[in-house]
Amino acid sequence: MHLENFIFSFILIFALSLFSFNLWKIVRNIRLGKSKNRFDQPLKRTIILLKVAFGQTKLFARPVSGLLHAIVYWGFLVITIGTMEMMVDGIFNFDRSFGVLGGFYNLVTISGDVMAVLVLVSCLIFMFRRLFLKIKRFSGKEMKKLSSIDAIVALVIIVFLMFSLLTMNIGYLALEHAEIVGSYPISKHFVSLISNWEISTIILFHKVSWWTHIMLVLIFLNELPYSKHFHVVMSIPNVYFSNIEHLGKMDNMPSVTKEVKLMMDPNADPYATPAADAPPPESFGAKDVTDLNWVQLMNAYSCTECGRCTSECPANQTGKLLSPRKIMMDTRQRLKEVGKNIDKHGKDYTDNKSLLNDYITPEELWACTTCNACTEACPLNIDPLSIIMDLRRYLVMEQSAAPQELNMMFTNVENNGAPWQFPAADRLKWKDE
Ligand code: SF4
Ligand code: SF4
Repeated sequence: MHLENFIFSFILIFALSLFSFNLWKIVRNIRLGKSKNRFDQPLKRTIILLKVAFGQTKLFARPVSGLLHAIVYWGFLVITIGTMEMMVDGIFNFDRSFGVLGGFYNLVTISGDVMAVLVLVSCLIFMFRRLFLKIKRFSGKEMKKLSSIDAIVALVIIVFLMFSLLTMNIGYLALEHAEIVGSYPISKHFVSLISNWEISTIILFHKVSWWTHIMLVLIFLNELPYSKHFHVVMSIPNVYFSNIEHLGKMDNMPSVTKEVKLMMDPNADPYATPAADAPPPESFGAKDVTDLNWVQLMNAYSCTECGRCTSECPANQTGKLLSPRKIMMDTRQRLKEVGKNIDKHGKDYTDNKSLLNDYITPEELWACTTCNACTEACPLNIDPLSIIMDLRRYLVMEQSAAPQELNMMFTNVENNGAPWQFPAADRLKWKDE
């Protein structure tokens, strides 16, 4: 090992440790959520994972942008193998160490070389679209300037990542190794551009490309936890643990089910005193992020802010205050705030703020028609509706703060056993007419 390898190993350990630390914090924040069983039906979940996360199938609802996005995603998957090889080479002073994989390595290098160009072109198109086209779905009151800067920064990093990968391959081929390991169908056409350089210049060119590429990988990796591009990491667990029941199906609340069963049981004593060791009564619905479950919190960290949900939302389209993307972004923002409070003041600290009211208003919540268009449109199977319903549940069951129309309906159900204003005895009167 040379000094260069020690320097690289030190940088690599530092970068991976920093990323792991930030990842640990995010996992800790997600674990603040309530429990939820999403470990059932592994086969069905794996099929959905292959289709939606790896196959990117939901993105193809918009074929052009869907294909470009899929190229970037698939390109990353392929290029990650090459990145792992570079890490091994950088630590142990190897050169193209994964070459021992033979035919498979050829496949990896061919697809890596081709995908680098495709990803580069896709990202340039995305940048052009962001900077010069007015796409409605990229605007909205929840979309601050920072969101746009975040997207542009990531695109610029990816463009340079792909460019440095190609120049590294070109430099490698130009060094005219006795035996070229792997196959580079695109880069080989550019070798003539540098083949008449001094050999020392080519070595330097290759080295600079190698270091630029791996440093950009580590910078990008550590930018992820602060960015919406964290979905690169979260998309796989998020899709795997997504809802595989009927969309919009609400969970029964065990305590309410128990009360109803007691009411229906003629032998039950409604005035029975609860046992001394009975758990405290649970609150209904969600007021803050800690009342949501871990899947909903993971959803918040996975949101790419793409706006596909909001562009399909009938409430948003008709000018209502609601935007399902904002629901997810607010949840993530509040969760980060709670996490920071824990870091600073310990886990029992309360800042007297909550997701409901401080971030999301009742007006937004009651604008929802529960149509599920947002959940269907989301390329990562994120479920904004489940958060909306839990916040509404809190408003109705803890604060009796439902809109007037609903309160009338509740009263009718309570008094008449039906949502209408007529008593049960009058129900069959229509037949007399
Ligand atoms: S379920 Fe609610 S938030 Fe989602 S698209 Fe329908 S109206 Fe909009
Ligand atoms: S919830 Fe899904 S569709 Fe909506 S902005 Fe986030 S990733 Fe896009």
